[in-house]
Amino acid sequence: MVKIQDMKILKFGGTSVGSVESIRSVVEIVKQEKQQNNSIILVVSAMSGMTNLLTKMSEEASWGNLDENDLKFFQEKHFEIVKALINISDQNPILTKLKLLMNELEDLLQGVETLKELSPQTKDLILSFGERCSALLLTEIIQQNVGEAKAVDASDYIVTDSNFGQANVMEEMTYQNIQLLAKKYSDKLFVVTGFIAANEENRITTLGRGGSDYTAALFGAALHAEKIEIWTDVNGMMTADPRFVAKAFSLKSLSYTEAMELSYFGAKVIYPPTMAPAFKLRIPIVIKNTFQPEFEGTKIQFNTEPTIFPIKGISSVKNVALINIKGSGLVGKLGFSGRLFSLLARHHINIVLITQSSSEHSITLAIHHDEVEKAKQLIEDEFYLEIDAKWLEPIEIEEKLGIMAIVGENMKKTVGVSGKLFYALGRNGINVRAIAQGSSEYNISVVLNENDLSKALNAVHDAFFYHLKKTIHVFNVGIGNIGATFLKQLEKQKDFLAENNDIEIKLVGLSDSKKMIFDEKGIQLTAWRNALNHSSLEANLDEFMQEMKRLNLPNCVFVDNTASSVVPKYYKQIFEHNISVVTCNKIANSSSYREYYELKQTARKYGIDFLYETNVGAGLPIISVLKDLRMSGDQILKIEAILSGTISYIFNHFKGENTFAEVVKKAQELGYTEPDPRDDLSGIDFMRKMLILARDNGYQVEAEDVKIDAILPESCLTAETVTAFYQILENENDYFEQIKKRAESEQKAIRYIGVLENGRISISLELVDHQHPFYALSGSDNVISFTTERYKERPLVVKGPGAGAEVTAAGVFADLVNISSIK
Ligand code: ADP
Ligand code: ASP
Ligand code: MG
Repeated sequence: MVKIQDMKILKFGGTSVGSVESIRSVVEIVKQEKQQNNSIILVVSAMSGMTNLLTKMSEEASWGNLDENDLKFFQEKHFEIVKALINISDQNPILTKLKLLMNELEDLLQGVETLKELSPQTKDLILSFGERCSALLLTEIIQQNVGEAKAVDASDYIVTDSNFGQANVMEEMTYQNIQLLAKKYSDKLFVVTGFIAANEENRITTLGRGGSDYTAALFGAALHAEKIEIWTDVNGMMTADPRFVAKAFSLKSLSYTEAMELSYFGAKVIYPPTMAPAFKLRIPIVIKNTFQPEFEGTKIQFNTEPTIFPIKGISSVKNVALINIKGSGLVGKLGFSGRLFSLLARHHINIVLITQSSSEHSITLAIHHDEVEKAKQLIEDEFYLEIDAKWLEPIEIEEKLGIMAIVGENMKKTVGVSGKLFYALGRNGINVRAIAQGSSEYNISVVLNENDLSKALNAVHDAFFYHLKKTIHVFNVGIGNIGATFLKQLEKQKDFLAENNDIEIKLVGLSDSKKMIFDEKGIQLTAWRNALNHSSLEANLDEFMQEMKRLNLPNCVFVDNTASSVVPKYYKQIFEHNISVVTCNKIANSSSYREYYELKQTARKYGIDFLYETNVGAGLPIISVLKDLRMSGDQILKIEAILSGTISYIFNHFKGENTFAEVVKKAQELGYTEPDPRDDLSGIDFMRKMLILARDNGYQVEAEDVKIDAILPESCLTAETVTAFYQILENENDYFEQIKKRAESEQKAIRYIGVLENGRISISLELVDHQHPFYALSGSDNVISFTTERYKERPLVVKGPGAGAEVTAAGVFADLVNISSIK
């Protein structure tokens, strides 16, 4: 006789018995076990979707709306399996048995339809057909392919109370029944119906949705099984629900407590009560994948194996509502909570989470949304005296919420876990409605808006499982010189970033002035131009913003690669949606001081980044150096700078025989100037950069406060066309010649220098001698010198190419990877 201690329980879930293909895999798995002479018991769920279908049919029948097609579909699903997997000659008996069950089911449903009444008892009876049919089928298939099998109706052995829908098991009696069964048919391979049981009057009950796992655990505990295997459609228990978190990965092992906490809030791979019988006897539970049997899966056991992460996983549930009970009547009232909780327990209302404020002024309960109205009514009835006396305020309900919980035994040994959790949520603008930490410290749960759940799960998963690549979702506007170069650089650096910085950049939104496209999975960086050209969406910034919000993705960055004055008007609302902004567009920071200040404040308020290094000196580190100096307590005494690459180029080449007009023209031909070179020579662009530096240095300055010495005589500025401008420039040659001569005779260089001192900005033409740090400046270089308390004797100088698409785009790129949410 088989020693029952060597027994192994294999439970196959709905998807494992849901199709011809999956049942073939099940047969293979069972064959392997038998070949190794293992003694096993199979527990099977209803075919996938069938319990839902039975629920639907029973409810619709009770409203008088039974759909015959549903019944046909139920029958077809089972017949299809018979036809595909059972020899034709053997099909008839099993088809007849199934047909008898179908007839019984139909009679029941018609009874419900006639009476328009569905008691919990009848509903359980109807639901039992899912497992009864699947067990019948499986027994026959195993019998044909593996060997002697016996269908076991668990309702003959598992005894429960009469709490239909979620019955409580009488364990001792159940175990005895199972042991007797095992002794009686020790040579048979049992195929047991999961999920169903019966009360002491032999009326069918069910163990709650997902309850087949529980059946497996009960058989395991009764027979002191060596192991319980839960075969499902994923590679074991994962760090999060893989349907929401694409990066979720399988866990090698979990403790019972961890598995319990994870499954309590939604990780439905395993049904929570399952753990209890296994836990008591320390029987390991292994979660395996029917579709990939060689994968080792997840082992759930008494002790967990250590991992490097502070948490094991993240679970979530939807369809949650909060009930808020507030009022002075709660303060110091002994027994209030007791009355509240026993009231809800008496009515079988499950409280998912509880928080109580330390002032005792309020208690908040999270409850499944189907039960919240009932719970509210019960509380109002129970406490009507207190509400009448205004000791309690009217009971409030908040709906459309979800719960996310981080779980793991390591949490209690690790500092900063909640900090990390709330930082990730805050950075992504996710509002937390309630928080609970179990005293076990194995779990921190937060209640959130239901539509933020997926974003929250992904953001928190990225934050805790730091060995995985962090995903940055980029929305880019502008594909001119800088924009296109930036996208090219993204493409080029993609693999490097993934490999060395663990960053994955996904371009999810793109727009130029004509078209826009979105792709949550990422727009191909090699084919964005084609995709954009073929997009059916006309460019529209309002709609771009709407879509960006609707997608609600974690770790988002909006990149403004335009020079448009319209795009910056959207920054504020972008910040308000907790999306960081990286921009090379100077307009936002150099318009009115009020606008600049408001943007800075908003970015700070929402705790996200607003990075604009390329506003001054393209890719040169100027804004960041200034920030670092100030942050570290240094005091800026003076800033001197040459921040116009165009003007640098012009004066560096205004030597010898060349006229000023010729040099400007040459600069234009080489692409160093704006289409109208006066936009550079007027000094406006330079002024904007000085303005941004001054403001970042804490000065409240406006464009009108800047003193600019014009390079060009008035007549040049008023010329109507660029051609006319060049003509006048030739006529004014003497003016420039004089400056050149003076510089040459004094052996000095002509430089257009901006100075910021004591909050005042001036920009003027200067002649500097060879000792001046700005004397030796080549090409179109920028230079900036910071004289500070620390760098007083010898200023801190940053110098290098300060214009051009490549360096500017590289600066935008650097800002992007500096976004703090990815660090
Ligand atoms: P079965 O029908 O086999 O009982 P279930 O649907 O009850 O399967 O449970 C398996 C499903 O649980 C998976 O398909 C997956 O979508 C979901 N799930 C939720 N959370 C997790 C998690 N943390 N790890 C793995 N799967 C999860
Ligand atoms: N068939 C039942 C359900 O869908 C039980 C189970 O699958 O575990 O809930
Ligand atoms: Mg399940």
